[in-house]
Amino acid sequence: MKTFYDAGFDIGGTQVKYGLIDYEGRLVFKGKVRSPEAIADFLAALEGAWAILGRKSPGPIRSCGFGVAGFYSLKQKRIIQSPNYPALDGYPLVPAFRKFIDAPFRIGNDANMAAFGEYKHGAGRGARSLVLLTIGTGIGSGIILDGKLWEGEGGYAGELGHITVNPEGDPCPCGGRGCLETEASAPRIVKNYRALAGGTDVTDARDVYLLAKAGDAAALESFRRCAYYLGIGLGIVINLLNPEKILIGGGVVSAGKFLLGPAVEETRRRSHRISFAGCRIEKAALGNDAGLVGAAAWARLKAGGRT
Ligand SMILES: [Zn+2]
Repeated sequence: MKTFYDAGFDIGGTQVKYGLIDYEGRLVFKGKVRSPEAIADFLAALEGAWAILGRKSPGPIRSCGFGVAGFYSLKQKRIIQSPNYPALDGYPLVPAFRKFIDAPFRIGNDANMAAFGEYKHGAGRGARSLVLLTIGTGIGSGIILDGKLWEGEGGYAGELGHITVNPEGDPCPCGGRGCLETEASAPRIVKNYRALAGGTDVTDARDVYLLAKAGDAAALESFRRCAYYLGIGLGIVINLLNPEKILIGGGVVSAGKFLLGPAVEETRRRSHRISFAGCRIEKAALGNDAGLVGAAAWARLKAGGRT
């Protein structure tokens, strides 16, 4: 009887999401809590969430996975830097978690966990290689190669959001300039529109989307400029990895035809024809749950589960 469950946490600077998956990767329970600023409050919140999971689980919890925002060192087993959650910087999470997580657990980068979630239980099921890009306030990404999560030598692989696509672009919080994240994420869409339309009070990418839908030329151009850089980034991915699939997730996916349409055209122009033809660029399927589903599925793998 397959009656075990696996827990997943998706730890971001704004929210901590958590849940339980069954053996088929279905979420049987999920919850969330605001991310506390202080580390002691953060650990208390996690301990509380773990207790809730214990109560809500229909069966024993066999393993637990954590996806954390930031650079998580596989060697030092701590977050080296978390731009969105500075309280976690350098903190030894493993001994702290061990005090209350009474199941085998694993910690990884949140975008990597999301990619693993889509690969195991989302739009990437059945693919051997894929790259997931999550485009929202920032751009996160994760890579699956030959059926395995590619974490890189230290755990820092898949930082597609910080490859340079525009050498003369804006400075990025990562220390670089003209990163994919500064050129093609949701804030950029708004920034483009404000520069083009002038004197506007638009502050949200969704508003620019609605304007584009209504045929507003400046809104359409705002998306087109982001799509150009997104296409450059995707062209690099295709030529470097020749992946079976590229999945696009995050808030801006709803702006599909304005962003993804022209981005795919740009990708076609910037990648090898044969490699482009063999790659399916599709929308991700798990939405905001990808990270916690992936963290749970990834922990399960370590715990020896077959699925
Ligand atoms: Zn950057």
